[in-house]
Amino acid sequence: MRILLLTLACLWSGLSLNAQSRSAQKKVIKLMGCRFEVTAIADNDTIAWQAINTGIAEIERIERLISSWDRQSQTSAINRQAGIAPVSVDQELYDLIFRAKKISKLTQGAFDISFASMDRIWRFDGSMETMPTPEQIQKARQFINWEKVLLDRQNLTVFLQEKGMKIGFGAIGKGYAANRAKQLMQNIPGVHGGLVNASGDLICWGESHQPEGWTVKVADPKDKHKVLGWLQIADMSVVTSGDYERFVQFEGKRYAHIIDPRTGYPTTGIKSVTLVCPDAELADALATSVFVLGYDAGLNLINQLNGVECLIVTDDDELLSSKHLQLNYY
Ligand code: ADP
Ligand code: MG
Repeated sequence: MRILLLTLACLWSGLSLNAQSRSAQKKVIKLMGCRFEVTAIADNDTIAWQAINTGIAEIERIERLISSWDRQSQTSAINRQAGIAPVSVDQELYDLIFRAKKISKLTQGAFDISFASMDRIWRFDGSMETMPTPEQIQKARQFINWEKVLLDRQNLTVFLQEKGMKIGFGAIGKGYAANRAKQLMQNIPGVHGGLVNASGDLICWGESHQPEGWTVKVADPKDKHKVLGWLQIADMSVVTSGDYERFVQFEGKRYAHIIDPRTGYPTTGIKSVTLVCPDAELADALATSVFVLGYDAGLNLINQLNGVECLIVTDDDELLSSKHLQLNYY
């Protein structure tokens, strides 16, 4: 036992010694409308910056593909042609929509990229002055239906079956971009580790700039400058969806920016969901899904998925976690 411990100690000091001779660089930049932090641990400064710039270029490229604001994007073309005609898309966008539909199926429609027909009704940018009427909500809600997002694999087209439908990647795009940036950075020779953090949706791999490895603090939804606890992770993604960042308020009630496709209203019951699993895209999509499903059905789903864990803070500040989550407290 003692020998084993000693060996471990030697390995450990070797790693931290090595890590000290590495270059660790970080860039903070606004992408996809949010704050990204891209970190690389590499043999030297040049390689670290090459990795960071590669990651950023990839995120910018993906933004151009999936943005529903950018009128030039393929996503905007799909939305414009809703109820009119199928639109030819790149394999990459096709595959992303295919995976999004798989998550809709898994979550029984809680996750649905066609939620976006509601963004004409619910706007979380401060521009809403009155609560939408139940009729308006009911009308817009009819256009949410992932089964009417039709994919044609042969012709590589996407067709929104009804006029009025719209898709948006707000709940999966950042995770996908973080995954892709990580993959490209990881493939660069001389890069030994890194972190891509999209405003709390993050993925890390390999060596960290700290000898103890990557640690991720989980913010308290009551006060985001406070920390609830921390996770010790390696080659892992941690994604937090919270209602404290984007919401509207009417008559003292908060409405978060996640829409329940079943009702057309923003979700209630949960303040934040932190999802932990190796894949940032899946983590992103599932965090949103748990919000919609609510804590009982949400936890139930996560507990059935291998290698996926989550932490939920309810509206009553109760902490709930999946079976195998290892959250450390100070
Ligand atoms: P955050 O932006 O806090 O990371 P999420 O990853 O949970 O939050 O994504 C929230 C965004 O997802 C919303 O702003 C909206 O664009 C989109 N969205 C809202 N409701 C749904 C839903 N039911 N299914 C899929 N996407 C949704
Ligand atoms: Mg999400």
